[in-house]
Amino acid sequence: MQRHSPALLFVLLAAVAVHAADKRPNIVFVFTDDHAPHAIGAYDGWLKSVNPTPNIDKLASEGMLFVNSFCTNSICGPSRAVIQTGKHSHKNGFMNNGNTFNWNQQTFPKLLQKAGYQTAIYGKSHLKGHPQGFDSWTVLPGQGLYYNPDFITPKGRIRVEGYCTDIVTDMAVDFLKNKRAKGKPFMLMVQHKAPHRNWMPALRHLDLYADIDIPEPPTLFDDYKDNASPARWQELEIDRHMHLNFDLFLDLTKEFNGNAIKGRIDKSAWRNMQRMSDEQMKKWRAAYAPRDKAFHEAKLKGKNLVRWKFQRYAKNYLRSVRGVDESVGRLRKTLDELGLADNTIVIYCSDQGFYIGDHGWYDKRWMYEESLKMPFIVHWPGTIKAGSKNTDLVQNLDYAPTFLDIAGADIPKDIQGKSVVPLLKGKTPKDWRKSIYYHYYEYPSVHMVPRHYGVRTERYKLMHFYHFDEWEFYDLKNDPDELKNLYNDSKYASTIVDVKEELSRLRKHYDDDSDVSVWPKEKQRQFRKGAE
Ligand code: CA
Repeated sequence: MQRHSPALLFVLLAAVAVHAADKRPNIVFVFTDDHAPHAIGAYDGWLKSVNPTPNIDKLASEGMLFVNSFCTNSICGPSRAVIQTGKHSHKNGFMNNGNTFNWNQQTFPKLLQKAGYQTAIYGKSHLKGHPQGFDSWTVLPGQGLYYNPDFITPKGRIRVEGYCTDIVTDMAVDFLKNKRAKGKPFMLMVQHKAPHRNWMPALRHLDLYADIDIPEPPTLFDDYKDNASPARWQELEIDRHMHLNFDLFLDLTKEFNGNAIKGRIDKSAWRNMQRMSDEQMKKWRAAYAPRDKAFHEAKLKGKNLVRWKFQRYAKNYLRSVRGVDESVGRLRKTLDELGLADNTIVIYCSDQGFYIGDHGWYDKRWMYEESLKMPFIVHWPGTIKAGSKNTDLVQNLDYAPTFLDIAGADIPKDIQGKSVVPLLKGKTPKDWRKSIYYHYYEYPSVHMVPRHYGVRTERYKLMHFYHFDEWEFYDLKNDPDELKNLYNDSKYASTIVDVKEELSRLRKHYDDDSDVSVWPKEKQRQFRKGAE
């Protein structure tokens, strides 16, 4: 028998340890912006019939789809901060899009690095400042542009020609092929701008859905008569607030009397398009010019105009979605080609849900279902039963501890989320949460959705617009579209007491002591704008 010196034995043992570490799974986290679950075929929403996402549907059919997946604060930057930290907005300090993320705080990528993972992020960060905790990174400044966008890199700013979703996918593919560290598992975050406003599809998708009508949401003409007052004085309606040029790129040059660039709103649209090359612009105009001409000739009014705007909006949104769906397909193909697929977890999710004409709206922010829900689909070969659907209540708060759990790393006590690894293995713990906590802060601000907090259980939802001291309560089992506010319904009085108690418990549990004061009546009146 061969004899080894102690030093050689140590080297051999260390080699075994590294080899063991190799077996921990890689994670590819594909994260998009504003992609609502009901715009994913696998989620069975009213958009399913247009087959919006074949690649994401395939991922779900081979993995696990979370039906009850929610954000904690339905807006871009804050959702990302929650994911980085595993803590609610009031704990990680990034409550509004206007905030700057404190990158010096504890984040899961830093902890993954310590645990021996290689980490990388490409695409939209939306947290300001240079990312920390990543071995490789290239991010968009702010919202970023769809065409020929700038990127911030550790070496400075660069401009890359092409379509943003494709460029970010290129960076991720390059990481997989050329930048992986030997002997280390990796966490690769692929964070797309799409399908965020202003919805600009790739040139190859401009004719997608051109020959069909997108089904209208059942609540397109909601009159909000049963809601608390904020739903009546918001500013996110397709009818009153979605702009034909800024949002829908309708050519209004004639209407602006040749002063298109001088018009504030038209100038904003121009900002999004000015990066296009002459060739890109030519193709764009060729696709939209006949549609714009038909629109001007039709002289639509009232509901017909809303219907036209909805079609243009939903089509451009779903065309932008198709770009990210193709990204998922390309990334999985690359994992296959490199022999990495069997030991790589692929996750698809987006920072919050979105209104695609639901309740007559676009945008997000509210605690209503369409913007509260997040898509969350996990593919983990050999661990997840293919095609499974999980109905436990999960949140973006849970991602950080889940990643640490996957890596076999310690989960710090101050992380507020819970690892969903047991759920992925089909074994929900008996004490899994029975309710989720929500708190939205960005007000007064664009779209004018007031601050509110609330609780959602499997069946009920209670929301408090505290500055205005107005409440809403919904029975989601009987009213999934949330059209009947039951807060003053005596039949639900004792249930509401119970749910309010649960809300108080959650506020204590998550230690949310942020200011939730009721505004003086005069201040309330100024903001309600006579919409009572
Ligand atoms: Ca978003």
